[in-house]
Amino acid sequence: MTPLQKRRHSTMRQGKRRATQRIILPSLISCTNCHQPIRSHRVCPYCGFYSGRKVKT
Ligand SMILES: [Zn+2]
Repeated sequence: MTPLQKRRHSTMRQGKRRATQRIILPSLISCTNCHQPIRSHRVCPYCGFYSGRKVKT
C-alpha cells in the first residue's frame, strides 16, 4: 500500500517540516593553497589539494 495522507497538511505544518530540512547547508571554507571557496572535508576541485598536500593529479 502506498502511504497516503488522509488530510492535506496545513501550510504551517509544511513550513515547520521544511524549516528543519533546510538547516543543513554546505559549510564553505577557503582552500589553503588557492584560497577558493570550497566544501570542507573535500579535496579542492580547483587545485586538488587536501590538508596541505596534492591529492588529485
Ligand atoms: Zn585549492
